[in-house]
Amino acid sequence: MSPPAAKISPLPNYVEAVLPVPLRRSFTYRIPETMRGAIRLGARLKVPFGKRSLTGYAVELHADLPTDIEFDESKIKEIIEVSDDEPLITPEILKLTQWTADYYASFWGEMLKASLPAGINNEKVRPKRRKAVRLLLASPDAKPFSEQQQKILDLLTANGGEMLFTDVIEQADTNASPINTLVKRGLLEIYVEDVMRDPLGKADFPALDDFTLTDDQQTALDQITTAVAGDAFKAFLLHGVTGSGKTEVYIRAMRFALDAGRSAMMLVPEIALTPVFSRRLRAVFGSDVAILHSNLSTGERYDEWRRIRRGDARIAIGTRSAVFAPLENIGLVIVDEEHDPSYRQHESPFYNARDVAVMRASFAAAIVVLGSATPAMESFYNAQSGKYTYLSLPERIGGRGLAEANLIDMRKVFKIAGKDLALSPELIDAIRETFAKGEQVIILLNRRGFSQFVLCRTCGETMKCKNCDITLTFHRGTDNLVCHYCNYREKSPSACPHCESMYLYFVGEGTEKLEHILARFFPQMRIARVDRDTMAHKGEMENVLLKFASGGLDMLVGTQMIAKGHDFPNVTLVGVISVDIGLGLPDLRSAERTFQLITQVAGRSGRGKKAGRVLIQTYYPEHYALRFAKEQDYDGFYKEEIKFRQRLGYPPFSVLASIMIKHRVHARAMQNASILRRSLDAANIAKHCRILGPAPASLARLKNEYRIQIILKGATRRALRETLQIALADAESQGCDMHVIYVEIDPVNLM
Ligand code: ADP
Ligand code: ZN
Ligand code: ZN
Repeated sequence: MSPPAAKISPLPNYVEAVLPVPLRRSFTYRIPETMRGAIRLGARLKVPFGKRSLTGYAVELHADLPTDIEFDESKIKEIIEVSDDEPLITPEILKLTQWTADYYASFWGEMLKASLPAGINNEKVRPKRRKAVRLLLASPDAKPFSEQQQKILDLLTANGGEMLFTDVIEQADTNASPINTLVKRGLLEIYVEDVMRDPLGKADFPALDDFTLTDDQQTALDQITTAVAGDAFKAFLLHGVTGSGKTEVYIRAMRFALDAGRSAMMLVPEIALTPVFSRRLRAVFGSDVAILHSNLSTGERYDEWRRIRRGDARIAIGTRSAVFAPLENIGLVIVDEEHDPSYRQHESPFYNARDVAVMRASFAAAIVVLGSATPAMESFYNAQSGKYTYLSLPERIGGRGLAEANLIDMRKVFKIAGKDLALSPELIDAIRETFAKGEQVIILLNRRGFSQFVLCRTCGETMKCKNCDITLTFHRGTDNLVCHYCNYREKSPSACPHCESMYLYFVGEGTEKLEHILARFFPQMRIARVDRDTMAHKGEMENVLLKFASGGLDMLVGTQMIAKGHDFPNVTLVGVISVDIGLGLPDLRSAERTFQLITQVAGRSGRGKKAGRVLIQTYYPEHYALRFAKEQDYDGFYKEEIKFRQRLGYPPFSVLASIMIKHRVHARAMQNASILRRSLDAANIAKHCRILGPAPASLARLKNEYRIQIILKGATRRALRETLQIALADAESQGCDMHVIYVEIDPVNLM
């Protein structure tokens, strides 16, 4: 009798691939005979697409053609190549990216691409390998060898039997030939070693503090670790004032997760992953921590990502896209400064890493901790409604008070001086006093460049970008007028291009001008500027911050890059120069942003043993965002702001989608917008959504494209998504050009 045939699932003949293109569907390909055993879910595939070939991702394997669609067998193309034996994308990330694409009405293929380290599909990003030499016998018999050969063998023996090829040549002062002879005689072996590029290199790591947690810290930590041990999803909002020791709670919670055999992730805002903090984490967790952020070289990022994928690093720390890091068995997800706008990806595929992080934890039955001194309105609302568990660290470590903040009314300053001043006398005095005491200063101005715009005093024209509806900003360093949206630049004019008048007026100051003014007032102070212009090169930001931390600089001037996360104990004065310009913008979150930014930067002052102060120059001292920021009163601000949101039916009382229709030709943009509006109306029969527009966006033209906007306000997320889904499909069938439609769910602003 023959044994029963083993049940073998048939090898797949077809694969569903999603491609990094703005299409909401997958594509079916035939798998050639030879590749049937090799292909796995999550592998990258090279596939033909139209006349091109693209890198796609295997998301489903079938033995037979799917039956839900009619196929013309002969039209199905074959895949060209399976790029990975070991799929880069884990089943968990497949599921998470699919959910994310769906939630944000975005594209799965683009989301998968965004989940991988940048440049991975580019042939230039390869593992780095080096040639090394290994001794095959523990103690080779000494007699037959030449002097040179003996030297090589001794060197290797002294170094544990393995060395880099180049090191052997250098240290034994030899060339390749005696090594090759020894290889031929079977005494040595040459092999290739995988070298991991380490973003932190051989930097010095700080000594570890080993303090006892405060009662508040301990209570928060206990709740988190109990939940991590519990193995079910739970979300916390950790609301702790600046300097209350949140970071220490994160570190100990991650240590707990690790000891419990789980992995952990911590997301930080774009520029908050400071060199100081990275080094501290490395000191605590050693090679268990991998660091992922945009300032790494492509090779470094690839290697850090591979260490996670292989399970060598079980803690991933990084910015936005690190939420897709391929950690297995994740137990804890932390989102630091969860309110930060940099978690939002501003181009397709749109997503908010904070919200994806919550979903990731939920899928993995893990714990998520959202931490902030100024929680986003939505997060605090969720804590109040019981969706998140609220944890609070209401006091600074060591009983230090928050820095005392004062508003300086710039309208009064104008009256007394008879003209606009960048710096009030009060702030100048405060800087002088601080410097005299040997303490440090941070000055925040949320606008880079020299002058905000250029105005002709004769004809009243402002110099505008030729691609955008935006005034150009004067940059003195390069003597250019620059568009801060599309980066268009031109030589700064000596006469008005409209009327040829010589009376050009440079209005408003940016960080570049402020630095000049400060240098003139305080020639003795060592000042550095931190903004996107000065920090264009890799490592520059790092150098300046390390220098400031070690006392090699007296004052930092910069944009919001300097507001977040840094811990400089010797900073006792923070000056805020007109950040309230944001209050004039047509943005539902402008009050929230202003409040957050001032509170964050104020939190940089007085973190050490010395008391700190904050001076806020403003033209709107009565505005509630300013009043509550001065008091650093989050609860007061929340109560006021939530009333405003409720009155206007804004989130969290509704769900928003911003649909931008962009085209170089205005009429074409309008035409597509009208089709879409009709489809939206048809889809919205139950009237669960409000539809506004189409209307020109506040930034009506950018990068040479007209921007028409439709805003959708849904009573529930479900209503919004259903209406949108039906409408988009309908619009497409009505001839709407889907390539010009950009949908953003939960937009952070409406501009
Ligand atoms: P946050 O992240 O809330 O702004 P940090 O975690 O940076 O605050 O803590 C502020 C400072 O207090 C840091 O210098 C940190 O090392 C220190 N610190 C934190 N917890 C303690 C503690 N329990 N005892 C003493 N110092 C602490
Ligand atoms: Zn003019
Ligand atoms: Zn422009």
